[in-house]
Amino acid sequence: MQNLNTNPGEGQSPRRIGFMGGTFDPIHHGHLVAAESVYDGFNLEQVVFIPAGMPAHKSQSFVTPSHHRLNMTTLAVKSNPHFSVSTVEVKREGPSYTIDTMRCFRACYGPEAELFFITGVDAVMQIPEWKNAEGLFEICRFIAATRPGYPTENFFRFRDRLSVRQRRGIRMLAIPALSISSSDLRERVRRGRSIKYLVPEVVEQYILEHGLYSGNGGRVRSRAPITF
Ligand code: ATP
Ligand code: MG
Repeated sequence: MQNLNTNPGEGQSPRRIGFMGGTFDPIHHGHLVAAESVYDGFNLEQVVFIPAGMPAHKSQSFVTPSHHRLNMTTLAVKSNPHFSVSTVEVKREGPSYTIDTMRCFRACYGPEAELFFITGVDAVMQIPEWKNAEGLFEICRFIAATRPGYPTENFFRFRDRLSVRQRRGIRMLAIPALSISSSDLRERVRRGRSIKYLVPEVVEQYILEHGLYSGNGGRVRSRAPITF
């Protein structure tokens, strides 16, 4: 991770840093557009992508080894000077809990910094089930990016059930709709279908070179045309 210069100079406003956690299996343009939209909309200084080492909410047997997910995330954000990647969860033993990660960042950036955790509207609704969710609301605020397939009414209904304190800590941001998911991308590769323009070209190359998701060492499968 770069640039952990913690304190703003005297008289300067507090630093505003975004964090985007995820499995990133693989990272795609939906993740990147969400992060860039929040960076832009909330006037952030940078966004740190945090690939989960051992995602606490996903079955281990189906998750790609963390070094590949880390490499793809690093390649995907390389061209953006205000994006960076943290290895904190990949290096930590055991399941990746956001509370441990954000405590670590709070310690790094100091008490004045404003920390924003970026999710999609699907993931934000799971936060109350995360380890020490109450503690997390003390450390950071949450920005939930809209996502096709996850109606905003569900998000508003979810938010209405939260305590006043938690409600104040969550904002929704409407972003350009990209109906892309990592599960769909994995399925496309498995079936030999194209993922071009859904992921950055460097990520597509990485997936092909390392034979990820295809189960056939990266060889292109013969594709049955869509019939009608
Ligand atoms: P999977 O299908 O394997 O769950 P995913 O595409 O949901 O993968 P994750 O790594 O689970 O990707 O998501 C990381 C974060 O990015 C989550 O907060 C998720 O809501 C958000 N996100 C993922 N895709 C999009 C998208 N297309 N638009 C907005 N947010 C997204
Ligand atoms: Mg997901």
